[in-house]
Amino acid sequence: MKSTPNRLSKLAAHLFLACSLLGTTAVAHAWGDEGHEIVGDIASHFLQPAVRNHAFALLASDTDALTAHDFASETTWADKFRDSDRNTTQVHFLQTRQWHFVDIELTQPNIDVACFQHPALPSGTSAEAGAAADCVVDKINEFAIQLAAPGTTPAEKLIALKFLLHFVGDLHQPLHASDNNDAGGNGKAVTAAGLGSGKLHGFWDTQFVQRLGTDPGTVAQGIVTTITPAQAQQWAQGSPADWAQEAFQVAKTQVYGKLPKPGKTGTYTLPATYVTASGPIVSTQLAKAGVRLAQVLNQALATP
Ligand SMILES: [Zn+2]
Repeated sequence: MKSTPNRLSKLAAHLFLACSLLGTTAVAHAWGDEGHEIVGDIASHFLQPAVRNHAFALLASDTDALTAHDFASETTWADKFRDSDRNTTQVHFLQTRQWHFVDIELTQPNIDVACFQHPALPSGTSAEAGAAADCVVDKINEFAIQLAAPGTTPAEKLIALKFLLHFVGDLHQPLHASDNNDAGGNGKAVTAAGLGSGKLHGFWDTQFVQRLGTDPGTVAQGIVTTITPAQAQQWAQGSPADWAQEAFQVAKTQVYGKLPKPGKTGTYTLPATYVTASGPIVSTQLAKAGVRLAQVLNQALATP
């Protein structure tokens, strides 16, 4: 990006204003940066040494200024990339915004519908040039194939790795795998004692993650020590579609299932029991995401 710091700050101010005006439609669709960095740190722990070296070398070749190029920072790249032209040309925004979630409807759950019937990637097409109307499940599968294929150029491998680092995390945010005709919880105003007000989606993206601790690396270390070898082995099984269905169930039974009735103004006041229950749910989803991100990379970058 060739903007000067001054132009950047003006852009940020405009973006902030645009987000404020647009309200529900303009909020982030992702774990916040902290959640993604925690997933990255957990995954890093479970990478095979040769795979870690390979992944770190690919990231070290990155010249993109949107993030720093360490493993944890690069987990946030896909959000920065999506938002990089959100206020201008919207090329990256419109091409990639739907790839961050799979909106399985609570009332009529159907992953094929949520994935736009899985548009095929024409042979010879890079996954980043695929259909804009596609879901996070399909994009994980496509970028994993791209990362593993022997004919993939180093530049295409780097792009595939950066999208995977982010999307495996997104898939585990329950409100990225579910919808109740409310834009994945973006349409629900909530408030909770000590956590302020916001949207249900944002609370699960950010507020509940921040309750785990202030430093993502420390939080990740704490979570890693709780993961047993048997859990790591079990969680690594299955496919991204299975992981989406699992996150959907968490949303159905907990995130939406335990919501109180809204007040007269339509705002949901989350009781202390709801906030407390979010801790282990978020920790487990981040732990699973880290183990599974490592699994995807260990498979894709395994030495023959
Ligand atoms: Zn995202």
